[in-house]
Amino acid sequence: MGEILDLAERAWQGSYDKHWHPSGAREEIAPGLFFLNTFANVSVACTAAGLVLVDTGSHIGRSQTFEAVRHCDRGPVFPTVYTHGHVDHAFGLPPFLAEAREKNWQRMRIIGHKNVGPRFDRYRATSGYNAAINTRQFGVPVPWPTEFDYPNITYDESFRLDAGGSPFELHHARGETDDHTWIFWPERKVLFTGDQFIWVTPNAGNPQKVQRYAADWAQSLRRMSECGAEVLVPGHGLPIFGGRRVRQALDETAHWLEHLLRETLERMNAGLPLDLILHEVKPPAELADRPYLQPVYDEPEFVVRNIWRLYGGWYDGTPSHLKPAPEAQLGREVASLAGGVRALVARARELAALGDLKLASHLADWAVAAAPDDRDSHAARAEIYAARTQGERALMTRGVFNAAARDSSQKSSRT
Ligand SMILES: [Zn+2]
Repeated sequence: MGEILDLAERAWQGSYDKHWHPSGAREEIAPGLFFLNTFANVSVACTAAGLVLVDTGSHIGRSQTFEAVRHCDRGPVFPTVYTHGHVDHAFGLPPFLAEAREKNWQRMRIIGHKNVGPRFDRYRATSGYNAAINTRQFGVPVPWPTEFDYPNITYDESFRLDAGGSPFELHHARGETDDHTWIFWPERKVLFTGDQFIWVTPNAGNPQKVQRYAADWAQSLRRMSECGAEVLVPGHGLPIFGGRRVRQALDETAHWLEHLLRETLERMNAGLPLDLILHEVKPPAELADRPYLQPVYDEPEFVVRNIWRLYGGWYDGTPSHLKPAPEAQLGREVASLAGGVRALVARARELAALGDLKLASHLADWAVAAAPDDRDSHAARAEIYAARTQGERALMTRGVFNAAARDSSQKSSRT
């Protein structure tokens, strides 16, 4: 058994959880299909027309990706297909383009959904924001790319790529993004899902990023499940082998999304405010043990918020939130009611000691809003958010809390 096959078996059995710390392994997982287990996966299909690249990795690791692909095959790239325009998937092309120019190969075809280009335009317009939030989400500085290799072939609903008589079927679906492409290669019965499947609960709620589309996402998973794939190549993490397993993973992920969607919409239609819905809707308990449905990246609660935002706008049903008082004013008022900032901070620490970190966080935020230069308020806030970071599983949640802890920690030690 090869390394990838071995790891994939362990992943399915639930004894491997390093999907976000990839092995770097490279293996031919089906005849003529090389799989590179990088942070965002890259696949190389060898066809009679040349190589078909599915995704290209990130701008940061592009020279390693290039070397790894060239270790599999040194021939010209026939086309590249972007599963979507995220920075970890669509920013590895420059070394391939330079090589093609050097060797006088014909201009590379870069295929993506028609919304990939507008995404790149948006990335240019929001580069400062994206660098900041990705640094907060991942906890390490993430440089934002400045070069963009736009698709030169775009499509809307579906596209058939005839690779020397062995077609690849490209299908658009909204889900994690509005520019996703999932691909089925019938000759090898291989399905490339992009980030519609990534070995964790769907990233359908990301608090710091643009709208996600839970209903379209679930529908696309159902369609993928019906295409007859024997191998599933995800956007991140290891492949799944065997038609029964592929269908199970796709159908159960669809069910997980459909459940949150149904439960949220029922309550919206009954006129409930977001606050109540957020605290009532839970993911399906019967899927809680699935190794591919652990909420360690995004969270169900955030998915509920995104469903609300998609169908209902941003007003949450609490009237004071429509045109709120400035946070600093609110903080000063609460501090005054409590008997001063000291009393507010003391109560925050007391609640934290009792284990209620959620309530303690509100009080700590109000304390620093009321007294932004008070070192002890920041010290308390740093302790509380550090404790919250420890208690959370989801990377997105940990990133936000940890950034708050770091910020207040710096302010508490400022002289
Ligand atoms: Zn990704």
